Amino acid sequence: MRRIEAVLRKHWGYATLRPLQREAMESVLSGRDSLVVLPTGGGKSLCFQAPALVLPGLAVVVSPLLSLMKDQVDALRECGVAAARLDSSQTPDEQDDVIDAVTRRDLKILYVSPERLMMNGFARFLRQQAVSLVAVDEAHCVSMWGHDFRPEYRQLGLLRDAFPGVALHAYTATATQQVRDDIVAQLKLAQPRVLVGSFDRSNLIYSVERRTDVVEQVREVLDRHQGESAIVYCIRRADVDSLADKLVAAGYKAAAYHAGLPDEARKRAQDAFIREEVEVIVATVAFGMGIDKSNVRAVIHAGMPKSLEHYQQESGRAGRDGLDAECVLLFGSGDVSVWRYIIEQSESEEGKAIAHQKLADVAAYASGVVCRHRAILKYFGQELAGESCNACDVCFGDLELVDDALVLAQKIVSCVYRLEERYGGDYTASVLTGSRDERVLGNGHERLSTYGLLEDYSKKLVRDWIEQLAGQGVLGKDGEYAVLKITEKGRRVLRGKETPRLLKPAAPRDKADARGVAADSWDGVDRGLFDTLRVLRRRIADEKKVPTYIVFHDAALRDMARRRPSSPEGFREVTGVGEAKARQYADVFVAAIVEACETRGLERDVDPTLKPAPKPQTARGRKAQKPTVDLARQMAYGRFDRGESVAQVADAVGKPVDRVLEYLLAYLREKKLATPEPWVEASLFERIREIVARVGMARPISILRELDGAATFDEIQIAIACIQSGE
Ligand code: ADP
Repeated sequence: MRRIEAVLRKHWGYATLRPLQREAMESVLSGRDSLVVLPTGGGKSLCFQAPALVLPGLAVVVSPLLSLMKDQVDALRECGVAAARLDSSQTPDEQDDVIDAVTRRDLKILYVSPERLMMNGFARFLRQQAVSLVAVDEAHCVSMWGHDFRPEYRQLGLLRDAFPGVALHAYTATATQQVRDDIVAQLKLAQPRVLVGSFDRSNLIYSVERRTDVVEQVREVLDRHQGESAIVYCIRRADVDSLADKLVAAGYKAAAYHAGLPDEARKRAQDAFIREEVEVIVATVAFGMGIDKSNVRAVIHAGMPKSLEHYQQESGRAGRDGLDAECVLLFGSGDVSVWRYIIEQSESEEGKAIAHQKLADVAAYASGVVCRHRAILKYFGQELAGESCNACDVCFGDLELVDDALVLAQKIVSCVYRLEERYGGDYTASVLTGSRDERVLGNGHERLSTYGLLEDYSKKLVRDWIEQLAGQGVLGKDGEYAVLKITEKGRRVLRGKETPRLLKPAAPRDKADARGVAADSWDGVDRGLFDTLRVLRRRIADEKKVPTYIVFHDAALRDMARRRPSSPEGFREVTGVGEAKARQYADVFVAAIVEACETRGLERDVDPTLKPAPKPQTARGRKAQKPTVDLARQMAYGRFDRGESVAQVADAVGKPVDRVLEYLLAYLREKKLATPEPWVEASLFERIREIVARVGMARPISILRELDGAATFDEIQIAIACIQSGE
């Protein structure tokens, strides 16, 4: 192990090991088969890469995806490790070069695709070259019980006989017992050392929200991560296209990715994401397997995933560098039906029952109110250490159960009944909150006994409760327009025989406090310097045509911006800086650091172990400081100052027209504007004012009728706001 530690420092610049890495490496060194189960980002690759450098001979690594292999090999070379890959995407000349290097025994690590390895005679050829170990990456692909079964991986059962006497090591992030047993059986591992790490990814902050306005909700999360990388998963390709279009229109650097796009477009999107020209990838689950990007700061599921294994895998793509990252799941009750349909269409008879069960489990997670970390761990058969994870919406206290859920649910269900089960959730919420919406008033629904019953609550919250009731089967949704229906369970609720659970957001408080200082990864980091170094890293990555994280991970940049070394020696102390990287980059990075410190008067050569930590800036803390909704409002106000129309402003700030109208009404009141031009013509305003003088302003619908089509409801509201301002 001492040699391993030396190798880790020299090539990777790492001083410590992550949990179970030591045990996993010991297994490799002692030549005993092993199965290592660590969550995504747990550091599985190092478990075989570091011992490969210490053991005599060549380590053979089987990996399922070409892009993944390429990344790993590029990263290893960048760290000064003699590594290569062999797969069908290479030209015959390139393949010959690799084979020559193997024969010359110049290589320490060779990545191969399963089909290439199993090609006639190739394993025999390798055997003659003194193979030190065989590692199978993403080993769950051999199992039908895994979430990503690949038939070509089944051939790997032949490895045992192809490499007699060589230890086999399997690595996966999928933790269910069934998959584990299956991997051992399929790969014929001999009394393997089984190492199962904790599946808790404490740096991931989980939250679940009902989907009410998907674009708005996704934007809210993205706005907390401006300039950072994020992935948004959708269930269907059509959703991907539409969401990506809307985000692009609203000014986000976003791109779509799904299996229906031409290879060329997919590759372009993926490369742009990796090179950070694109910040947000909107994708189906087709995206991600081959992505090793370590600094993804948010993974948003715009629809429910297919299983908790999928969720763990997909959300796990956030924060692989161990720094804080956010995983938000937005779900609507319709998601379950969409998945049911897809499962029925796509799964084998054998697979259907398993898939439906997994779907039920993930649906229970989404509508549950236990700590998210605890719930995910429990699914994988593990317990959370300690009372609270301090990193999910439930433990932050972002959510609370409402006390009077039965009464609220009864009001909602009664309203669905009064509306004769002919309207969707959005309209029903409008009626319940007493909306003066044109459609509601036009239908005369302001006369219903349930009109305005929940006017003390926001429409968003009521809309959310309707979704929660649908999720618990109290309400059903019918047809293309998702018309609300009362189910049998709904009738029991009406009779008070059953009480559903309803959640509400808790009163806002400073979440930075809740998160605590311990896990904080921004301690002492100068954000401005970090951003400068990020630009430099990007330029180098562009020149070398490699992903940015192959130059340096975010963790390394943060450590540079924390220590601010002014010499190559100091630079070597930075985590993630090994010899090869120090040789290549010390000069440019140190120069940039020194210059930034001089211009901005920052202290240099800081030893973080000696310095008291300044006030923390956690992901959550940063969230509190970042402008979100208020930013849109401010932008809108600026445009109103210039006299832009509601539609123009809505377009420019990327908010729905309704919302912008609300901004305008508030703007008129706050500025006490007594005339509504240019939003309402002066002559029309005079007519409205005259009617208001006669009938009052409490019933805009009467004004609308009197004007007989000469004004819209919006114009009347704007006029009323000005009349009130003038009073
Ligand atoms: P996995 O394959 O388990 O998802 P990786 O092997 O890709 O995880 O490792 C995730 C990240 O953590 C990589 O950037 C890797 O370099 C880094 N890493 C792994 N082990 C360590 C360690 N002991 N110290 C610091 N960083 C590490």
